[in-house]
Amino acid sequence: VTFSVTEHESNPKREFALAVLRRLRDAGHEAYWAGGCVRDSLLGREPKDYDVATSARPPQIRELFGRRKTLDIGASFGVIAVVGPKPAGIVEVTTFRHDAPYSDGRHPDAVTFTSAEEDARRRDFTINGLFYDPLNADESRRVIDFVGGVEDLGRRVVRAIGDPQARFEEDKLRMLRGVRFAATFSFALDEGTAAAIVGLAPTVTVVSAERIAQEMRALLVLPARSHGLEMMRETGLMAVLLPELMPLGAQIVQQGASRDNLWRRTLDVLDRLVDPDFPLALAALLYATSWRSDEPPHGEGERAAAEVVRQVADRWRLSNKETDHAAWLVEHHRALIHSQTMPWPTLQRLLISPGIDDLLKLHAAIALAGGRDTAHVDSCRRRLRLPREELDPQPLLTGDDLIRHGVPQGKIYKTLLEQVRDAQLDRQIENREQALALVDRILEKAGS
Ligand code: ATP
Ligand code: MG
Repeated sequence: VTFSVTEHESNPKREFALAVLRRLRDAGHEAYWAGGCVRDSLLGREPKDYDVATSARPPQIRELFGRRKTLDIGASFGVIAVVGPKPAGIVEVTTFRHDAPYSDGRHPDAVTFTSAEEDARRRDFTINGLFYDPLNADESRRVIDFVGGVEDLGRRVVRAIGDPQARFEEDKLRMLRGVRFAATFSFALDEGTAAAIVGLAPTVTVVSAERIAQEMRALLVLPARSHGLEMMRETGLMAVLLPELMPLGAQIVQQGASRDNLWRRTLDVLDRLVDPDFPLALAALLYATSWRSDEPPHGEGERAAAEVVRQVADRWRLSNKETDHAAWLVEHHRALIHSQTMPWPTLQRLLISPGIDDLLKLHAAIALAGGRDTAHVDSCRRRLRLPREELDPQPLLTGDDLIRHGVPQGKIYKTLLEQVRDAQLDRQIENREQALALVDRILEKAGS
């Protein structure tokens, strides 16, 4: 096995990671590239960053590279960051270690420094447990594999190192990481590994909201996101983390010629999203919870689904910005279906919303997954090319205008400016004088 990244190609990260390795070796320590960078290179992917594993202890690492060039990012776990030239960033240098028992289901109680082999065995998955020695002149001996990772890369499986049940009991986050790595590379979960997740899925709740969100953020934007979600469903992780989605599998949707259950339809929508960011993918994942068999009044299902977004966002402590955007998308996921026949001011207000690009992507994906055309989306895209003055005219009034007009400052400003804007887009008013007259009428009404 050889690295596909050619060695002559200039790659500042790789160059620096090589320099770090050389320095450690020249000082008599054992040192290799480790983990993700080895896996990615063997798969022909450019590593995000290079990690080094070494026999050197944290104080030795710091002494070797100098205090000013190193950051103690977890010396008690044996992790020192070595700072390289700007384009190279940092290389994490980690002392070979063995983790002591995990009593909280997430973090080891202590670590002990040990051999390369034991360090490989404490890692989570075989494909993440490889070392690489770029300094070995014999290319065929550069990969150092204590755990069968090379074979699993070839078989395209994610397999826990050691006894999967024990490894997931130690650290519940690994269950989500396993699914994410399988989705990242379009690999399968090894049978025993999948079975262990099935047994332990209910315990994933000990993982912090932030770490769950971090994994879901990464998973949902992968090209193979639907494969990842399907694995979550099959292993029972979904029932625990996203129970709202479980009923979808039992709901049949018929649209034109295509008949499907709502879960398969949702996966299809997700796959049809073009380069989604996380809030858009989350919206596509959750919009179908608006489905009601009893055909409630218009908009009710959408509002209920937007509420589901807020619930999930709250559970994962997502930022307000992500949450509001995803909830807005879900609430409006049908808003443009009749874009070709709706009154212009109504459409215009949607087209000038900050989230419009994602809303159009969501509409297109839903239409295509349902076997329908995207004429409504195409017509919106054409309208978006209208001149700015026509599509999104300068507001007639600003807060300063209200101050100058003698309106006492307060919460009312927001309402006033919004109502003036609405009237402007509705073509009820078209200049400043009319806008200020409207302000007076609104204030008068509020006062009386
Ligand atoms: P990515 O490309 O997502 O960064 P990575 O393999 O580099 O993938 P990291 O989370 O950066 O993953 O971790 C680096 C390495 O540390 C992993 O390859 C794995 O060997 C080990 N590792 C990380 N998290 C765990 C964990 N929870 N349990 C055991 N080993 C872990
Ligand atoms: Mg990494």
